[in-house]
Amino acid sequence: MHPADNVAIVANDGGLPAGTVLPGGLVLVDKVPQAHKVALQDIPEGGAVRRYNVAIGYALKPIAAGSWVHERLLQMPAARALAGLPMATSRPAPQEPLAGHTFEGYRNPDGSVGTRNILAITQTVQCVAGVTAYAVQRIKAELLPKYPNVDDVVALEHGYGCGVAIDAPDAVIPIRTLRNISLNPNFGGELMVVSLGCEKLQPERLLPPGSIPLVDERNVADVGASADAKLDVVCLQDAAHVGFMSMVDSILRQAEEHLERLNARRRETVPASELVVGVQCGGSDAFSGVTANPAVGFCTDLLVRAGATVMFSEVTEVRDGIDQLTARAATPEVAQALVEQMAWYDAYLARGHADRSANTTPGNKQGGLSNIVEKAMGSIVKSGSAPICGVVPPGAKAMQKGLLYAATPASDFICGTLQLAAGMNLHVFTTGRGTPYGLAACPVIKVATRTDLARRWHDLMDVNAGRIADGEATIEELGWELFRLMLDVASGRKQTWAEHWKLHNALVLFNPAPVT
Ligand code: CA
Repeated sequence: MHPADNVAIVANDGGLPAGTVLPGGLVLVDKVPQAHKVALQDIPEGGAVRRYNVAIGYALKPIAAGSWVHERLLQMPAARALAGLPMATSRPAPQEPLAGHTFEGYRNPDGSVGTRNILAITQTVQCVAGVTAYAVQRIKAELLPKYPNVDDVVALEHGYGCGVAIDAPDAVIPIRTLRNISLNPNFGGELMVVSLGCEKLQPERLLPPGSIPLVDERNVADVGASADAKLDVVCLQDAAHVGFMSMVDSILRQAEEHLERLNARRRETVPASELVVGVQCGGSDAFSGVTANPAVGFCTDLLVRAGATVMFSEVTEVRDGIDQLTARAATPEVAQALVEQMAWYDAYLARGHADRSANTTPGNKQGGLSNIVEKAMGSIVKSGSAPICGVVPPGAKAMQKGLLYAATPASDFICGTLQLAAGMNLHVFTTGRGTPYGLAACPVIKVATRTDLARRWHDLMDVNAGRIADGEATIEELGWELFRLMLDVASGRKQTWAEHWKLHNALVLFNPAPVT
């Protein structure tokens, strides 16, 4: 990955046997599995093992050139302290704007653009999930066929809303996450809420008057001179409801009003700058940082040049590269905001007697990633090379264009949920081990890091970045391919495999506050 590295990874399918002579004459001492590291030179005990030009660990005993370098041979470095970091010190040369790229999207009343036209049903509390799911089944069977321009009906199910310390300081995170997801651009500003009645998270607390978009005059309440949007709530404990069917009918009746308005919308040509892309990885391997993430990073640069918003996330997967990120921050204020998010998360993990090393999985290690430092170096690459111009706290909405750091846990579902809240209208997900991940609210383009995975999961992976390791495509070529695919998917001209099979993972809220 870098001329100063003293390890490299074996790219060959199935790995390489001991005795293999590598180009350059190095002979393998051990059998080295695919994606695993081989020492390019003798490394003394205590010596740094360098990959991505970073010490990913220190040798616990002498390692001979040609040996398999696995995690049991490495001592993990301590996390970089958050004091004395380079703050907005690197000044990347401004990249040339990329003009002329468009997609067909749904322009919303608030100016944002959807890539899909979906009716979302917000829920204040988990108690109503069963009733809402029942109603959604009927909406899909009985109403949706009458509204062909509407792509889907999605119940925003979650576990929050009651039995929680709703006034604890950190409760702001799950509450604003739910609020902002309801306002995701793919839902067209059509807010519809199902509430139980007695829950802690009351509808007006979830969606206070100022947060409700004015879709048209029909949802504007007449309150003197000020036009205030009225929240459309079906409350199950409402005395008017007698029997379950009364609740279901009420949800169907309300849904139909929103479906009518959504159905009248049409796609229009909009600039690529209206994309709000969330990138993340899951089931990573040692190829992630070699193939898929560099291609996504190249594409991130293209999107930023086109004026779009790109969010990268996953605190524990950037924590070890925080010095790279603070240096790349556009301003000292952005660098400071990055440090604050890292410090908050360090404290959050410490509270649970854990640290960032809790991140790596058995599959990561089988895939050649020795520890979180190595994983993080490969993960950061998704962010490309543009200056980081803003930081989005967990559950908050992204308010600017350019490259943003959206602070989230690395958990695929929590990260995706928080990126949806930030306003994501297109998701790019890289994987080495393979995951069928998908979201109901937003298209997810999945990028495989290895050809072997892309071949076996041919009807789940949208892009094969393994072609980079195979020598069949360059990072630049794959980055451009992904960019064009994103415009096609955003326009509805192409479906992702997860959309095709309707593979939808749950929304999972990040709730660092206590439950009661
Ligand atoms: Ca993840």
